[in-house]
Amino acid sequence: MGHEIVPRVLLVAATTGYQTRVFADAARRLGFDLVLATDRCHVLEDPWGDHAIPVRFEDPHGSRDILAAAGPFDGIAAVADRPTLVAALAAEALAIPHHSPAAVAACRDKYLARQRFQAAGLLVPAFFRVPADSAPLEAAKRAPFPCVLKPLGLSGSRGVIRANDEKQFLAAFERIHTLLHGADVAALREEQSCYIQVESFIAGREFAVEGIVTRDALQVLAIFDKPDPLDGPFFEETIYVTPSRESEEAQKLIMQTARSAVRALGLTHGPIHAELRVNRKGAWMLEVAARPIGGLCARALRFDGGMPLEELILRHAAGEDVSSTRLGDGASGVMMIPIPKAGIYQGVEGVEEAASISGVEDVIITAKEGQKILPLPEGSSYLGFLFARGESPELVESALRNAHTRLNFEIATLLPVVQR
Ligand code: ADP
Repeated sequence: MGHEIVPRVLLVAATTGYQTRVFADAARRLGFDLVLATDRCHVLEDPWGDHAIPVRFEDPHGSRDILAAAGPFDGIAAVADRPTLVAALAAEALAIPHHSPAAVAACRDKYLARQRFQAAGLLVPAFFRVPADSAPLEAAKRAPFPCVLKPLGLSGSRGVIRANDEKQFLAAFERIHTLLHGADVAALREEQSCYIQVESFIAGREFAVEGIVTRDALQVLAIFDKPDPLDGPFFEETIYVTPSRESEEAQKLIMQTARSAVRALGLTHGPIHAELRVNRKGAWMLEVAARPIGGLCARALRFDGGMPLEELILRHAAGEDVSSTRLGDGASGVMMIPIPKAGIYQGVEGVEEAASISGVEDVIITAKEGQKILPLPEGSSYLGFLFARGESPELVESALRNAHTRLNFEIATLLPVVQR
């Protein structure tokens, strides 16, 4: 009788949130042995009756040693930004094909990434970085207006602020400085958090590219249009729709630019998620992350036979050839429901009505009653997610917008704390 070899894949995740569970389900279907490593073990029940390996993302090398000792593995995948470095270090130590630690580090540092793009001849805005504790007036004098200020190491548009003049620059700088000194960011203990980067503002339409790299070659899985204008002062993501409505020529340019960026960063093997802007001058890479699209949003992607992105990533990590895998027919999209104001989330009305709109597949409210919520640029979450599917991107977009208007969120205003 044949002896079946079960692939053993290591998943490095920041939490055992939604996407981790999707990975676990996919592994179960595939019959893979999925081993989870996370830094939140102490607060979790054991999700699969299996023991997750405890790691500490603020100690990447120590975490690497722990994971290397837990091998062998056939493949590695990372969920969310922070785990990408530990995953890359562990892969290197275990000699598993994966993005290199240097490439992942460049992805996670907006200054290093810009330098790599510039050296590779990609279009880059004027940019410089200054220590977050430096005097902002000097930086304001050097700034190319309109500009964007951003912390180097955060994600999800957190702390990204546009400034059109010196006054706005100083206010934005102060606001990012305060954010970087807040308890949650300081707790990450990331060196990148000590800097603020200034970039000239790139006008244009924005896109996201989901892809997977196999031995240096990027396979584009999807191009998402972001139909809402992102002109600032804050850059809240809302709607993503695929396939793109851009011309074939524009899509080629987007894919070429993503390929060049992947090469410039040295990303060699594993998933990538890229964000870029297109205007008359060409395509401008904003950033590339060495991981798949975050959290619930991956639900917008379904491949041949309904396969989720997480399954495709596991197959790829285990060495399967996924080069012929294509997105399923039709269009799909997601709306990340923005937080309109700071306060205490009380509840929502209209979920059923929103869900009943033609094309809407899912209405998922992630905010919890009584939860303190904060909009961008300080916040880092959404109220929830809307998913739609349809014959065309236009129908998907209008279903998402329509559904959003049906939702009525109740947010209680936070009373300021009186200091005595
Ligand atoms: P994050 O990793 O937090 O997503 P990004 O650098 O990708 O940070 O910036 C977040 C968003 O801010 C981008 O998706 C884009 O909309 C906007 N943005 C960032 N840099 C620029 C720029 N130089 N010009 C115009 N928009 C920008």
